[in-house]
Amino acid sequence: MLLLIKNADVYAPEKSGRCDLLLGGGKILLMEPDIRIPGRYCEVIEARDLLAAPGFIDGHVHIMGGGGEGGFATRTPGLSLTDAILGGVTTVVGCLGTDGFTRTMAGLLAKAKGLDEEGISTFVYSGSYGLPLRTLMPSLEEDLLFIDKVIGAGEVALSDHRSSQPTFEAFAQLVGMARRGGLLSGKAGIVNVHLGDGPRGLDFLRRVLAETELAPSQMWPTHINRNPSLFEEGIAYAKAGGFVDFTTSTLASYLDGGEITCSVALRRMLEAGVDPGQVTFTSDGQGSLPDWDPAGRLQDISVGRVTSLFPAVRKAVLEEGIALETALRVITANPARILKLKAKGRLAPGMDADLVLLEPGKLEIRTVIAKGRLLMKGGKPLAKGMFE
Ligand code: ZN
Repeated sequence: MLLLIKNADVYAPEKSGRCDLLLGGGKILLMEPDIRIPGRYCEVIEARDLLAAPGFIDGHVHIMGGGGEGGFATRTPGLSLTDAILGGVTTVVGCLGTDGFTRTMAGLLAKAKGLDEEGISTFVYSGSYGLPLRTLMPSLEEDLLFIDKVIGAGEVALSDHRSSQPTFEAFAQLVGMARRGGLLSGKAGIVNVHLGDGPRGLDFLRRVLAETELAPSQMWPTHINRNPSLFEEGIAYAKAGGFVDFTTSTLASYLDGGEITCSVALRRMLEAGVDPGQVTFTSDGQGSLPDWDPAGRLQDISVGRVTSLFPAVRKAVLEEGIALETALRVITANPARILKLKAKGRLAPGMDADLVLLEPGKLEIRTVIAKGRLLMKGGKPLAKGMFE
């Protein structure tokens, strides 16, 4: 069955005026004004009072759960389809975290395939916090070459008490492997880098650029808003051509401790002259949000949510005065380009039929369509995961 969206105010993410969108076979077939199809061939959604945006891409989600930093009972649960739908998230990239032992690449891939069957698009990174990387095939290059869903490595932890404390050489070699595997497979081959609060900050990433032939496009550092000094480093790094990713899941204690709210972080990056194409948001959904005391003892732990992703963009528009078409890029066109997801992140004929309809003004999510299937209408989810 075809789906015809009528009269939407389209943000592709650039402002594109009023259009109809014809969806079929999981793709956007047409995007132009006044498409006429006999009613018996299609379901029509009247969107005269709505904005259309690309489905959101969340490039860092612990889809099978993460955490565990306070013992087994603190292992976090996996991502539900309902959370993805409520968040307007139609594409996720799954990762392992601190725990690459009770959580494995095989399990991560199986969870990604499950979510795919349930209705959203999924990809994964190979490995977890530690180096050497634990891959599914003998090497990262082979994971990239032979496993469709693998698009990079990570999240590899640096400047953090939970990292495996890799040497600079080990980290640079990993980025080189990702580069080589990415080239051979035609994928991004990007290393998703977890940054902790440690004073070394982005040092290893800067050294990769200064001391090797590798380009900034091979690394995607995340949690750059976690403290003021890392954020300042992030501005300089982005101005030098690097990508920077901000984490939307947070705790009040993190913000009290100096974490910079994503919406403010985006505004400050733009004010500093950073190209808006260099900045992304991810949710760290289903990851643990541990609260450590100054001695490194765990005080409390809670769980990140993919439903935090779009509210951060909404806040950037409504509270920081950033244009919707610019703010939307950080969860649509930018991650699609950085991760080389060619059919994602934009509304145009030939792209995957992933889209979100928003209420103008309040920017509430009303309708979610993933791979051409209606998953939310009128603010109500229409689908559930297998065991929800
Ligand atoms: Zn992380």
